[in-house]
Amino acid sequence: MDDCIAAISSAVGQAGIGIVRMSGEGSFDVLDRVFDKDISKIENKKMTYGHIIDRGNIIDEVMVSAMKEPYTYTREDVVEIYTHGGMMSVKKVLELLLRSGARLAEPGEFTKRAFLNGRLDLTQAEAVIDIIHAKTDKAHQLSVNQLSGSLKGLVKEYRDKLLDILSHVEYNINFTEDMQEEPDDSMLIVDAKEVRDKLSKLLSTANKGKILRDGVNTVIIGKPNVGKSSLLNALLKENRAIVTDVPGTTRDVIEEYIDLDGLALKISDTAGIRDTDDIVEKIGVEKSVSFIDNADLVIAIFDSSRELDKEDMRIIDLIKDKRAIILLNKSDLDKKLDFDLDLGDIPIIETSIKEGKGIEELEETILRLFNSGDLEVSNDVLVSNVRQQEILNRAYDSLNSAISDMERGVPSDCYEVDLRSAWEILGEITGETIEDDILDKIFSDFCIGK
Ligand code: GDP
Repeated sequence: MDDCIAAISSAVGQAGIGIVRMSGEGSFDVLDRVFDKDISKIENKKMTYGHIIDRGNIIDEVMVSAMKEPYTYTREDVVEIYTHGGMMSVKKVLELLLRSGARLAEPGEFTKRAFLNGRLDLTQAEAVIDIIHAKTDKAHQLSVNQLSGSLKGLVKEYRDKLLDILSHVEYNINFTEDMQEEPDDSMLIVDAKEVRDKLSKLLSTANKGKILRDGVNTVIIGKPNVGKSSLLNALLKENRAIVTDVPGTTRDVIEEYIDLDGLALKISDTAGIRDTDDIVEKIGVEKSVSFIDNADLVIAIFDSSRELDKEDMRIIDLIKDKRAIILLNKSDLDKKLDFDLDLGDIPIIETSIKEGKGIEELEETILRLFNSGDLEVSNDVLVSNVRQQEILNRAYDSLNSAISDMERGVPSDCYEVDLRSAWEILGEITGETIEDDILDKIFSDFCIGK
C-alpha cells in the first residue's frame, strides 16, 4: 500500500455536507489521532458519529466511514470524513490531517491508485473524469457505459483474438522451418480481417463520441453590432445553460454551454463576444483564424440592413471551408444586403434576433448538421476521446499492414512484428501497455480529491 494521501473530495462552496477523504497506509492511524471515538471499535464501512478534535478543540461534528482494503475505491484503506458543508470545515479538517501524518493528494491520485491497483482500467478511469465533466444527459450516459467496462470488454475481445492469431503465426515460424512451403494462412487472414473491420467500426464512432462528450465547439463571428451577443443571449435564454463560468486555471476563458436537445454547444468567449465590439480588430485576424480552425461550427452573422463590405468578405473567406451557418440578421429592418455568393452547402438563415425570428430554424439546422437524431447512446460502445482514437488508428495501421503482407504471401516472421505491435498498441487503451509519463498526463486532468 502507498503512503497516506488526503484531499477535499466535495465541491468547494456552500453545501449541506463536505467530504474529506484519505487513502493509503496509515489512514486509520491518522484518523485515530484526530477522531474522538475508539477506532478499533468502528465497524468496516459503517458510519460512525463523532468529532474531529485539534488539540482539545472541536473542529467539527462529523460522520466517519472507515473502509478496509481491498474492497474500496483505491483498493487501499480509505477513510471518508463527512463534515458540515462550506469552506471552513473541510479546510480545517484537511489541514489537521496533513499535520497528523497524511500528505496532500495530487490531482486524480485516488483514481490513479485505483488504476494501478487493478480496480479500474484506463478506459474506466477516463470514464470517471468524463462523468464529473458531463454536461448533458447523453454525455453522462456514455461515460457511465464506459465505466461499466463496455470499451474495456471490446478491446479485450480484439486483443484476445489477435493473440490467438499471433500464437498460430508463431507456431508456424517455430515448427515449420523444415517445410518446403509456407503454411496456409488463409484462415488467419480471415480472422485478422475480422478484427480489422471491427477496429474500423469502432473508429467510426469517434466523431459521435467526441461530440457527445465534449460538445460542439462553436464560434460566433461577425462585425461589431451585427448581433453576436444578442444571439448568445437568445440561445442561452431559450435553452438550458449548463455552465456559465469556468475560470480555468491556465486560461481564463468564459465558456457557455448550451444544452440543445442533448447536443451540448460549447460557446467559448475567446472571440470576445462579450467584451469587445470587434473581434477582427481586437484580437486580430490571425487569432480569429485559429479560433475558427479549432471550431466544429462557426456561426457567422451579417447585418442585412447594410451592404457587405470588405470585412464581411474577409469573414466569408474564413468560413468558406468550414462547417458553418450564415445568419442574415436584422431582417426586421429594410434589406440592403444582396447575398448572392455561392457558398456551397453552408445554410443561410434570415433572422431577427431582436424579434426572436429565425432562432428556432437556427437550432434545427444545428441539430441537423450534427445528426443529432443519430446521437443516441443506447448500449453502443463509443470511442470517446482523442487518446483512444489515436491508439485505435495506430493499431489499425499495424494490423492492416500485417494483413497485406499475409495476402502477398511474405514469410510469417515479417508480418509477425506488425501483428504483435497491433496487439501491444491496443493494450494502451486499457493501460495494460503504457508509459508512465502518459499515465501522469491522463491523471493530471483530474481534480484533486478524485
Ligand atoms: P454584437 O456587437 O455583434 O455583439 O451585437 P449586439 O448583439 O450587441 O447588437 C448590436 C445592436 O444591434 C444592439 O443594439 C441590438 O439590440 C441590435 N440588434 C441585434 N439583433 C437585431 C435585430 O435582429 N434587429 C434589429 N433591429 N436590431 C438588432
